[in-house]
Parts: sequence; C-alpha cells; structure tokens
Amino acid sequence: MSVVLHVDGDRWRDHLRQVAAERPGLVPVIKGNGYGLGLGRLARKAQWLGVETVAVGTTTELTEVAPRFGGDLLVLTPWRSFEKLPASVDPGRLIHTVDRLDELAALSMTDGVPRVVLELLTSMKRHGFTARGLREAAAVAASGGVRVEGVALHLPLGPAGGNLTEAEALMTEVVAAGLAGSPRPQVWVSHLTAAEVAALARHYPEVRFRQRIGTELWLGDRGALEVRAHVLDSHPVERGETFGYRGRSIPRAGTLLVVSGGTAHGIGLEAPTGAAGIKARATTMARGGMDAVGLAKSPFTIDGKARYFAEPPHMQASMIFLPAGVEVPEIGSTVDVRVRFTTTTVDSVDIS
Ligand SMILES: *Cc1c(COP(=O)(O)O)cnc(C)c1O
Repeated sequence: MSVVLHVDGDRWRDHLRQVAAERPGLVPVIKGNGYGLGLGRLARKAQWLGVETVAVGTTTELTEVAPRFGGDLLVLTPWRSFEKLPASVDPGRLIHTVDRLDELAALSMTDGVPRVVLELLTSMKRHGFTARGLREAAAVAASGGVRVEGVALHLPLGPAGGNLTEAEALMTEVVAAGLAGSPRPQVWVSHLTAAEVAALARHYPEVRFRQRIGTELWLGDRGALEVRAHVLDSHPVERGETFGYRGRSIPRAGTLLVVSGGTAHGIGLEAPTGAAGIKARATTMARGGMDAVGLAKSPFTIDGKARYFAEPPHMQASMIFLPAGVEVPEIGSTVDVRVRFTTTTVDSVDIS
C-alpha cells in the first residue's frame, strides 16, 4: 500500500557518470527531500561518483549527508550567526557561503579558520554581496579570520539567451575584487550549461570552475525514474451518487478508484508550475471538461491519461474518478504517478 519510486539502476548510474564526465568540477547538490530520492542515498552516490565536494542546502541537512560522504561539504544557505551547526560534523570539512559583511566579521571571530565562499549578488537577487561589497569582503577576509575558497554565483534558471552574458559581467567583478581562493582561484556556479562553463573556462584559464548541480544530475534522465502507486479499491458509481468526506455527488457514471498516495506524499500539493504569464494561466482555467464540474486533474495516469481527483486527496490515499469506458485497473496493480520529484515524499525507493 504505497507510493514507490522505481529507479532503473544501471541507466541512472550511467547518467550520473555521464554528467560527472561532462561537468568538470561537479559539486552535486543534495538538499530538501533529496530530489525525491533521499539525502542519504544521494550522499552515498556522490561518494561512489568520487567527487571532491557536495553542496547541502542547510546546516540541518549535514547530519544526514556528512556520515555518508567523506569529502568537503559546501552549505548553500548563507552563514548566519543565529544558526547552530550540528556538533557531529567536523568543521574542517565545511565550506560556508557568506553574503554579508556583518556575518563575515562574526564568522571570522569564531574558533579556527572557517572556510568560506563569498557570494556575489546576481540578477536572481536572493543573496550576495554587491560588486563593491565583494571588494570590501575580500579585504576583510584578507585579515585572516577565514580562508576564502572562492566566489559563488547563483544564476537564474536559464533565461532565453542563456546566462553567459551575465556570468561574464560578474566575472569582471570577481577579478576586480582580486580573485580569491587557494591554491587556485575558484568560482562556484549554478545554472550554466556545459557549453557556457566551457566558454568561461577558456576566458579565465586560471580559474577553477565548480559546477553546483542538482536537478540535471539526479533527475536528468527521467526515463530511469518511475513513480507507481497501488490501486487499493474500486467502486462502480452512477451519476448523482454521493461519496467522499464531503458527500459530493458524482457528475457522471463511472468508477471511483482508491489509490495510494495523498497529501502526506505531497500529492495534490504541487509547487506552482512557474507557467509564465496571464495567458498560460487563462489557458489552464479555460481547459474545461471535468474542471468545469469542479474536479481537478490528478497526477495519477490510468489507461494513458491523467485522471481527475473525485475529491481533494486524503492524507495517504486519493479517490480518482474514472469515466465509464475507461479500463479499470485491478486492485493490487499499480498505476503511474507523474509527480514533481522535489515536492514528493515516496514511501520507498526501489533501485534495480
Ligand atoms: C538548489 C541550488 C542549486 C541546484 O539547483 P538545481 O536546479 O537543482 O541544479 C545550485 N545552486 C544553489 C545556490 C542552489 O540553491
């Protein structure tokens, strides 16, 4: 009775090796729900890939990742003096992201010589020093309280035309701040294509580019990954029959199918799709069909189509409406679930 992520092991591992080969300086990103696969599993896979460094999102994630991966651990969320570090992790393995002068000063005052990367603000405008702030930070860092391991650039998800123009402009600022990092200057980047990184590396042959990649690495070969849910029950229904927590009536004759997977799995709680603009949203509204009778599309795919929720998903199961004429899957069989991996918690992962 569960939602299971099936992984074609050979195919997935081939893909991981291929990305590692195409992306010199790869820093696998291991954060959140572990891209649907789990933090611990990804940490072990990074160890198997033989990378030097992995990136976690937050310091709390270190407790799951650090015991399973032996190399350096970059923390992507900028260091904050109010955050506690897990005591179990060797501080010498940590590389902190720093984005503010006050925090840099506070970190410099802590024990030892913490390793840091200085983040430069990009058009994302999430975290980072301005160009001037970066020069000031380089000067503060030079006094020796921290060891600078490079500069970080977090670029937006590939806009039309790519990120190369912005990355080149930011590199000018990095150079102006006195390229930091030893023994070789390092720039940590995200969301650049392999070709864009290659172009930067040609312009800046002295710099070692470190590529922080999550989605393309772990989820880049979707065909190797499949989420399936068990069919738990089914009931034929006539038009107008009532069902469910809210005593709704069924709009048409068909079958109510009860499947594994509900809000506890993140089903029906999809992150916004990012569908840009009013036109795309209007199109969704106007789709008609079952939406017109108040039903919402579910991620459960049955007989070749995404089916509608008969009512909002329950905690661990969902009631799906199958119109008359659709082949009803047997109890105990499984159906395909098209989920967004980063928002889904599966009951188990099965790697062949
Ligand atoms: C999450 C994150 C990444 C990885 O993003 P993907 O799109 O999953 O490759 C890279 N850099 C930073 C700073 C991040 O927060």
